Amino acid sequence: MADKVAVVSGAARGIGAAVAKRLAADGLAVGVLDLDAAHCADTVAAITDAGGKAVALGADVSNEASVAAAVEELAGSLGGPTVVVNNAGILRDNLLFKMSVDDWDAVMGVHLRGAFLLTRAVQSYMVEAKWGRIVNLSSTSALGNRGQANYSAAKAGMQGFTKTLAFELGKFGVTANAIAPGFIVTDMTAATAARVGVGFEDFQKAAAAQIPVQRVGRPEDIAHTASFLVSEGAGFVSGQVIYVAGGPTN
Ligand code: NAP
Repeated sequence: MADKVAVVSGAARGIGAAVAKRLAADGLAVGVLDLDAAHCADTVAAITDAGGKAVALGADVSNEASVAAAVEELAGSLGGPTVVVNNAGILRDNLLFKMSVDDWDAVMGVHLRGAFLLTRAVQSYMVEAKWGRIVNLSSTSALGNRGQANYSAAKAGMQGFTKTLAFELGKFGVTANAIAPGFIVTDMTAATAARVGVGFEDFQKAAAAQIPVQRVGRPEDIAHTASFLVSEGAGFVSGQVIYVAGGPTN
């Protein structure tokens, strides 16, 4: 993996930061991409302090020019990326009758349009290298979740997008897979707890009680799965959705 370059979106914190650090520990150089490059400083420092290579990239994944500029910057500094982890995400939860068009569009824009734009921007490097790894963040919410019409549609869309990439790019040595996490402790789940008016500790305890392994997930649980999917040995795993949720999903 030493000569490989990855780009991880939404990597300033949460799952993206854990994935970026794990891929760096695996030997990849990592473009740490988030809305504001300055917010990527902690992730980049953690990687470089551990002897890895990383660069901070500021881009809004839903903006075509912004994504193109970030990928160009990465290619010019660490090299052309052949691994992409589409992780950037937002929530705009509401019941359907209260969901605004802006809530719908914002979620589609970051998750689906963002994954499309970033993947399209890096695919030429993968095709040229005849090797690549695409990992897209879906969610157990893809199966449907009250108050998340926008988010569940986007996360189900990520699965169709992933499978199509697997069909189109397989002949170039590129695999595409999705990870569908269950409850992972991050600012995103903390924000959900706050929105429903439950303390985060109690929220986690209630979630853990419903999970077969009786605990909530950590960003490192997702990073571990991403590391496997990016690894050389996972070259025959493509077009799959791996639920990482501490148990089976319904
Ligand atoms: P998080 O802590 O909220 O982090 C999301 C990151 O994405 C933030 O750093 C955020 O930047 C960045 N981001 C948002 N919009 C962006 C944009 N337009 N362009 C670039 N970056 C952007 O979320 P997380 O919990 O780590 O979730 C990561 C991914 O896993 C998401 O796709 C999420 O849907 C998925 N997921 C999470 C869970 C869970 O339980 N946590 C479960 C299933 C799936 P700012 O800080 O500047 O806003």
